[in-house]
Amino acid sequence: MTGPSADFAQLPLSPQTLANLAQLGYAQMTPIQAASLPSALLGKDLIAQAKTGSGKTAAFGLALLANLNPRRFAVQALVLCPTRELADQVTTEIRRLARAAENIKVVTLCGGVALRGQLASLEHGAHIVVGTPGRIMDHLERGSLDLEALNTLVLDEADRMLDMGFFDDIAKVARQCPAERQTLLFSATYPEGIERLAAQFMKNPQQITVQAQHEAGKIRQHWYEVRGDERLHAVSLLLNHFRPLSTLAFCNTKQQCRDLVQVLQSQGFSALALFGELEQRERDQVLVQFANRSCSVLVATDVAARGLDIAQLEAVINVDVTPDPEVHIHRIGRTGRGDAEGLVLNLAAMDEMGSVGKIEQLQGRESEWHPLAELTSGSAGPLQPPMATLQITGGRKEKIRAGDVLGALTGEAGFTREQVGKINVNDFSTYVAVDRRIAREALRRLSAGRVKGKTVKVRLLEDVA
Ligand code: ADP
Ligand code: MG
Repeated sequence: MTGPSADFAQLPLSPQTLANLAQLGYAQMTPIQAASLPSALLGKDLIAQAKTGSGKTAAFGLALLANLNPRRFAVQALVLCPTRELADQVTTEIRRLARAAENIKVVTLCGGVALRGQLASLEHGAHIVVGTPGRIMDHLERGSLDLEALNTLVLDEADRMLDMGFFDDIAKVARQCPAERQTLLFSATYPEGIERLAAQFMKNPQQITVQAQHEAGKIRQHWYEVRGDERLHAVSLLLNHFRPLSTLAFCNTKQQCRDLVQVLQSQGFSALALFGELEQRERDQVLVQFANRSCSVLVATDVAARGLDIAQLEAVINVDVTPDPEVHIHRIGRTGRGDAEGLVLNLAAMDEMGSVGKIEQLQGRESEWHPLAELTSGSAGPLQPPMATLQITGGRKEKIRAGDVLGALTGEAGFTREQVGKINVNDFSTYVAVDRRIAREALRRLSAGRVKGKTVKVRLLEDVA
């Protein structure tokens, strides 16, 4: 899709930045980057709309870094995000992009985290702040965050922040920013509230939309007609037939998410649900388990899944047909990234055929229908993920590093490097993925041994046979 005009080198970026982008493997601009960066780097206000996974973070990240003076120790850029995990993802990406420059400090300020650490980070000086509107408001009210030197304000996932009722908080924060600034608004969709935000806080914003298009053939879509009462069971038939390692299953309601997870778990699948009401700590755990391949199926509503950057997603299952065809395009864009082929499995009941028709119109092609009866489960038994997750009490606050955990497992405990997967060190706990077949033994040996010279509490996050 990207032509020769998508070369980063045509942008007014420093040689160090270009070298860093090459090192990150960003060979070409994505379409939204190519459409927005030329104006963004000229300091223009932008409203940019493109689907999830299209590289929006780097689009505003490069712009805010270009506005930044590293030798000035003051907050010069603020990025507002709807949730903590999105703020964490944005922070990580900005840090990667900022590697090219000297010592740029990025601080994340989100709710659900103790204020004390945040106050200390702010006192040490920050160039860039990334956070959720509520917590940013808290800091502004306490006087611990000063926006006088700010030159870039970014509203990321603006549609979702509006969904979550953040309009007033965003407005308050924006009013505390200097009038002389660049404002960049990024969004996957364009609801009415966005215009209101733009009218109040932006200067002649340029509007950029990159149409949600997927390369035909890269995503295989199958449709299955179901009766209402066989829908949830059909999901397990699909999983056992196609056996994808990681699947994101979309439901239209939270209740459907709960019901599906219950059905799948009772049949022995490793499935977890992601919906709005989970506590932050629970959400973190769910995402860690899915990303480290110890959970096969993540069941989510559209709102809960919005913005999550999940790599290596083999399949998307649309358990319910969405009435909004644009949402369908966003859902299926989660699979078939990069060079991988994507698989989308859709279940539709008679009363959803109107919505199916709208999707066909938007995609410009007819659906390919298959009978449920063609699904076979073979003899392999229920689908299992390759890994299982151990949770260790103690994390960053105890100065535990990934290397300590890997060392404990491969040293004293005697496992090989290949049996250990992803290690996530959070503030108060550490998650390590291990080969499912050794999970119980790893639990036993870690509990009996030491991590960083100390005994630790360890538990398996699910029942592993
Ligand atoms: P969005 O915010 O649009 O959902 P992200 O900014 O999270 O998308 O980017 C999705 C993924 O694409 C990230 O893993 C990011 O590192 C990667 N990415 C961004 N820009 C490029 C590029 N130009 N080339 C290759 N990968 C990129
Ligand atoms: Mg994003």
